[in-house]
Amino acid sequence: MDYIEFLGTGGTRTPTQGTTCVRVSEHCVIDAGNLINSFGDDVFTIEHIFLTHSHLDHIIDIPFLADLFVTQQKISLKIYGLKATLDDLRQFIFNQRVWPNFEEITLLGHTDKTIELIALEPEIPYSVDGITLTPFKTNHTEGSCGYIIEKNDVGILFTADTYKCDRIWELLDARTNIHTLVIEVSFPSNFAQLAHDSKHLTPALLLEELKKCHRDDISLNVIHLKALFYTTILRELNELQLLRNNGRILVDGDRINYNIS
Ligand SMILES: [Zn+2]
Ligand SMILES: [Zn+2]
Repeated sequence: MDYIEFLGTGGTRTPTQGTTCVRVSEHCVIDAGNLINSFGDDVFTIEHIFLTHSHLDHIIDIPFLADLFVTQQKISLKIYGLKATLDDLRQFIFNQRVWPNFEEITLLGHTDKTIELIALEPEIPYSVDGITLTPFKTNHTEGSCGYIIEKNDVGILFTADTYKCDRIWELLDARTNIHTLVIEVSFPSNFAQLAHDSKHLTPALLLEELKKCHRDDISLNVIHLKALFYTTILRELNELQLLRNNGRILVDGDRINYNIS
């Protein structure tokens, strides 16, 4: 694939929009907010899921995927994340109470377990399926991260959910091969307290954050809007001129090319 595809872009589920889910190569996705609906019969092509954190809107299809894979697949579904995220999956999802412990259940007729949880280290690049993913810590939950997604030496930075986070802007300064930023904005600007408490951004907070950015060549795209406030957030983003260099509010099905030249 010469592009990444946004399969789910909402900050909440609606009848027409899934939650965070990005296909970054043929067999690899970031987050699992909208896999089942998007892949349909092709769901068994998914081999690798890199998680940004363990909030429900980012992991919701993983239990159903494991349920499908246990009788149909030959090799484990590999799920990657920082340690705290994987610990949450073990403790709160695959705990034999909410859902079976598919980390210990063997694929029917094979030797691999149904899922394999693989811990990532921040700032270490991982090569998989022809791309490189580098997780970096964000300011959202314990274990939350964004990813630099690179193919053929060009990159896209995807923050996923975050509040104010210096590291985003340091990475953009240091990595001049990154041409596109996909960042979250969840609430309108007058929800500053809720944004602080739930560790999300608003247009006003993004404007403040952008003062840390020393580059003017980055395409700035926004994701994870809470659907109830879409119109207000869109107006504020436009008033503050935040959607820079052909940036836009991403919707399900949108694509961004790895190579934009
Ligand atoms: Zn979250
Ligand atoms: Zn979220």
